[in-house]
Amino acid sequence: NRRIVLNARPHGEPRQDDFRLETGDIPVPGDGEMLLRTLYLSLDPYMRGRMSEGPSYAEPVALNEVMVGGTVSRVEQSSHPRFAEGDLVVSYSGWQDYAVSDGSGLIRLDANIERPSTALGVLGMPGFTAYMGLLDIGRPKPGETVVVAAATGAVGSVVGQIAKLKECRVVAVAGGPEKCRIAVEELGFDACIDHYAEDFAEQLAAACAQGIDVYYENVGGKVFDAVLPLLNTKARVPLCGLIAHYNDTELPPGPDRLALLTKTILIKRLKVQGFIIFDDYASGYGEFASTMSDWVKAGKIQVREDIVEGLENAPQAFIGMLSGKNSGKLVVQVADE
Ligand code: NDP
Repeated sequence: NRRIVLNARPHGEPRQDDFRLETGDIPVPGDGEMLLRTLYLSLDPYMRGRMSEGPSYAEPVALNEVMVGGTVSRVEQSSHPRFAEGDLVVSYSGWQDYAVSDGSGLIRLDANIERPSTALGVLGMPGFTAYMGLLDIGRPKPGETVVVAAATGAVGSVVGQIAKLKECRVVAVAGGPEKCRIAVEELGFDACIDHYAEDFAEQLAAACAQGIDVYYENVGGKVFDAVLPLLNTKARVPLCGLIAHYNDTELPPGPDRLALLTKTILIKRLKVQGFIIFDDYASGYGEFASTMSDWVKAGKIQVREDIVEGLENAPQAFIGMLSGKNSGKLVVQVADE
């Protein structure tokens, strides 16, 4: 059994030697338990938070413990009454080949699921995040302008596509010309602005001639800076993530713009709401899962995945995601289906 453990707490950007690959025995399930084989491991930005100590909404991973993570796993042995050998489940097995489970928290996948890895992306946690954040907090109306950051990523690509289904004008923000091409030509967004461009703020303003009604925030930093003056009165800002800050070790240098931010919230009567998907919306999962799987089957939502082969490549892929190397939902294929 190979497992990747947290070797050291990163300072700033994580490095390869903050992780360590260990090999040990395959665990043995007890009575009523089962042995799970990891087929796919999901890599997600929240894992950066788990690598650090300090106050957050979840406990950090302990040093020398296996990195946490959602997986699609196959039941290899079972004495659990509800799961049989061969079943596919979404589990929280972490960065390792095998895990033992007593069944709690597992979601069984339909045996006929076409692409099991999508249960970690569009049909799983990131898709659910996009769906609830946009529809419950953003509340987009036809004809409104929706701006979405990290627009070709796991969450952003789904946010923009749902906003198109709701008949909005979608202005994407992504890193580099190739991602912007994907955003417009493949995902069908109305425009895409490259946040690396020198005149990014001017280009964004030009693309949002009617202002911004919904800003789906995944990033923070200079993207939010450029969005703030363009927000319309009564705009909604689902505050989903701030990936531009996850490697920060201190507050960025001034000037201090807190007064500008609070004044804009007041005079424009903005609704800015943070959310943590399963803490805030667990009861909405069933509705999401059936709606999204219908949309995907009908070709209304496209699936974008970036699949990396081999558990040993997880640390590099994770580090790369924090600087935009992924395109679509980042998943590691750990074993053959
Ligand atoms: P993505 O697949 O979008 O990958 C991350 C992307 O972020 C990168 O590809 C890159 O895209 C972009 N990015 C990274 N650094 C910067 C930067 N400095 N400035 C601008 N863009 C940057 O990840 P997810 O879709 O899984 O997650 C998106 C966001 O949603 C994250 O902030 C995550 O923490 C949050 N999230 C929140 C949840 C919640 O419950 N609140 C649940 C799930 C996710 P590009 O190359 O285009 O810049």
